[in-house]
Amino acid sequence: MSISKQEIIELLNTENSQAQELRKKAYKIKSDTIGKNVYLRALIEFTNACEKDCYYCGLRKSNADVKRYLLSEDEIFDLAMFAHENKFGSIALQSGEVLDKNYVKNFGKLLAKIKQKTNNNLRIVLSCGEQSKEVYKYWKECGGDRYLLRIETTNPKIYEKIHPNDDKHNFQARLDCLQHLRDVGFQVGSGMMVGLPYQNLEDIADDLLFLKEFDIDMCGLGPFIEHSKTPLYEKRNEIPSRDKRLQLALNSVAILRMLMPDINIASATSLDALAKNGREQGILAGANVIMPNITPERCRESYNLYERNIAITKKNVAKELEKFGEQVCWGKFGDSQHYRNRK
Ligand code: SAM
Ligand code: SF4
Repeated sequence: MSISKQEIIELLNTENSQAQELRKKAYKIKSDTIGKNVYLRALIEFTNACEKDCYYCGLRKSNADVKRYLLSEDEIFDLAMFAHENKFGSIALQSGEVLDKNYVKNFGKLLAKIKQKTNNNLRIVLSCGEQSKEVYKYWKECGGDRYLLRIETTNPKIYEKIHPNDDKHNFQARLDCLQHLRDVGFQVGSGMMVGLPYQNLEDIADDLLFLKEFDIDMCGLGPFIEHSKTPLYEKRNEIPSRDKRLQLALNSVAILRMLMPDINIASATSLDALAKNGREQGILAGANVIMPNITPERCRESYNLYERNIAITKKNVAKELEKFGEQVCWGKFGDSQHYRNRK
């Protein structure tokens, strides 16, 4: 479906019954295209080490209060086997950005081992930030199937304001990474934060149109949540209210579903930080993927992007969704239909 930028801006701004109408429409598109299905990715936050200093994120290098951890290869492997045996269909390996050559090589070997031991019956999603094209190619060859790299915002001026101004944080480099991921054959996911300082409705509309134009296969978009140990905390009085950010994020999911009926859209954990049933609301607005967290409990407090409530990461969202008549697809890969159709 094609929707003009002006229409998107108007839709983003809808509230109450009009917003409910918008989300219902998107949910119907999702149900008609993908079915009343929700796919699972078992989320493993395997390290909170990060070489970057994004102004919004609690894991940023300069946050000395974070206790850094790196799960051992054996532990990551065991978690992958747990996900496989419990029929999650896919795992999502997420981390800060680590560029060390040994790490890159050993991580690839681990992906290959997981693929081999599961007879290629487990999909692997990676969300490990920016790497060279060669590394992406190597990780793809080793067994990675999908890669999620949010563009965060498509307005370069905002990008510069929410990141340090140096080589490690470069808007064009991030765009290039998305293209490299596509070139080496990953199912490519991107997305943005909604409700950032400096961001207006036109910016969010541009972000949504970018996702369509880049022809993404999957999306992870969610509300920005302020973190007291980050520079953007200073701007907490200049952003929309928590409820407005929730509404904007849900409207964004709905609009994206209308723009791209057959992609995979994750219902972001950050939605749960703003409402008890935020992720369920995301599914009812057109998302079709959830990522239950299987990271060992001892690490969860240290993977604090936005001072999240640990109870959120333990919530049994799959069970909650069944109450809405959604079919949680245990044992299914849940590849992006859009990716398959493009191929
Ligand atoms: N390090 C990798 C990267 O940046 O692409 C992957 C992990 S990173 C923690 C995953 C996502 O968390 C980021 O893309 C960003 O959108 C999101 N995030 C970080 N800080 C956030 C915040 N304060 N509120 C909402 N989302 C946040
Ligand atoms: Fe590191 Fe990703 Fe957080 Fe940026 S968003 S500081 S790259 S973990």
